[in-house]
Amino acid sequence: MTVADVPSGLEDPKRRVLKDVFGFDDFRPGQAGAMDALLGGRHVLTVMPTGAGKSLCYQVPALVLGGLTVVVSPLVALMQDQVAALRLAGVAADTINSSLDREANVAAWRRVAAGQTRLLYLAPERLMTGRMLAALARLDVRLIAIDEAHCISQWGPAFRPEYEDLARLRELFPVVPIIALTATADEATRADIAARLFADRVETLVLGFDRPNIKLIVEPRREGRRQLLRFVEGQAGRSGIVYCLSRKKTEETAAFLVEHGVRALPYHAGMAKEDRDANQNRFMSEAGVVMVATIAFGMGIDKPDVAYVFHTDLPGSLEAYYQEIGRAGRDGRPVEAHMLYGLDDIRMRRQFIEGEDTSPEHKRRAHGRLDTLIGFCETAQCRRQALLSYFGEQASPCGNCDNCLDQAAHADGAAEARLILAAVAQTGQRFGSAHVVDVLLGHDTQKVRDRGHERLAAFGSGTAHKKDVWQSLIRQLVAAGFLRLDLEGYGGLAITEKGQRLGRGEGAFQYRIDAPRRGERGKAR
Ligand code: ADP
Ligand code: ZN
Repeated sequence: MTVADVPSGLEDPKRRVLKDVFGFDDFRPGQAGAMDALLGGRHVLTVMPTGAGKSLCYQVPALVLGGLTVVVSPLVALMQDQVAALRLAGVAADTINSSLDREANVAAWRRVAAGQTRLLYLAPERLMTGRMLAALARLDVRLIAIDEAHCISQWGPAFRPEYEDLARLRELFPVVPIIALTATADEATRADIAARLFADRVETLVLGFDRPNIKLIVEPRREGRRQLLRFVEGQAGRSGIVYCLSRKKTEETAAFLVEHGVRALPYHAGMAKEDRDANQNRFMSEAGVVMVATIAFGMGIDKPDVAYVFHTDLPGSLEAYYQEIGRAGRDGRPVEAHMLYGLDDIRMRRQFIEGEDTSPEHKRRAHGRLDTLIGFCETAQCRRQALLSYFGEQASPCGNCDNCLDQAAHADGAAEARLILAAVAQTGQRFGSAHVVDVLLGHDTQKVRDRGHERLAAFGSGTAHKKDVWQSLIRQLVAAGFLRLDLEGYGGLAITEKGQRLGRGEGAFQYRIDAPRRGERGKAR
């Protein structure tokens, strides 16, 4: 099965580098814009929270442009880390700095001079020496990046005199685009950077990630289509986007909605271009059209009054989720992002990652990102807080997500957790959630009998809750790191170090009550 459509912009060279070199499928907010400006030859000042992904804003263009990119960074340790990370990704990066011995610096310079190095990291005082500047002038410098650019501002708390001299760069390298990056967003510092480094001739991109008008709701999928239909009916007459994982599901879901009187249209890359375009035009021009689409839909779509984005399946990543829900409510009106997900989604994503033709390192990172996404789905914390903190931004509880609005939906789950941990341990940490739940509920299945699991102490210990409660609890234990899904084997559950401690009565586990009642209230919201 095709897990998802290829985004229409895959042939975009920066997207190709993002994927092939860094192993990421989606840009984070603000990255693509900064890259396009640089690739278009313009100077850029990027203001993004720490952890938002500033480095990629110049690393990707550096590889797209070829030649040499000079990166100015104030701290030796930072430079070393970046160079090491880039080399791990197979990128020819070097640094020349005071912590290296002379020999290492000479070797690095040789690689630079021979045109082998793509990114060269330097401290400002080393770059701005007459000798270095003269040497660089003879090389093919195509891009300059200035990290921690607020250091040039005397207003800022981190002023560094050696940064002032960087103001000469735009004249020394008149045809080279320069990007300045900082996480310091205050207006005065920003204006100061723009004035000093660029004489105000710069494209400034400031990013805060919060879209407070989007209500965030995530719930387990039980009877997905019904959940979708209830939601869409509650939005009667407004336009929305429904994202599905596969082309087939897109077609089926659109047909299902049409059967129930919804003006739904399908959109995926497998359709004839005329049909796709026709559907897109109707979505853009008519009111109240529901676009049921794969991720092929959305790039460059700027419709201000999209009232909701509904995910029938787990999205590809938190980046993708953020990007996709961001298509709702551009006019600032209250809108909703509603996501359904299930264990099947997670299993399929895992298999997809395993099946991809990428290095073990890429796979490891892809699994890690998936874990983060699952954690977001299962969190009992404010969702916006969780989402923003992933993008490096601090926030207080938003009051506009299911977790904030539904405090009653949380409960102490330590006792339940211990029952699950016991069932997992007693069955040998080899079985998936279905069997573990059968054991908890004391179900007399073939598998139970084959293994003699009806003789375990855990057998029948969980009759106080129904099956879907246990399944939700297990997902939340996985998300919170008490259990993990063994990916080498058959997706069996295993107990982590943290889970062992919880099993011994150390630590706490709060869980979100995800019993079916919850979804049934959806209409009232
Ligand atoms: P900053 O310099 O803004 O503090 P970094 O450039 O160090 O942030 O990036 C923070 C983290 O985000 C890194 O682990 C990086 O790999 C990750 N990251 C950056 N861009 C993406 C992306 N498009 N998709 C997924 N992860 C990303
Ligand atoms: Zn919230």
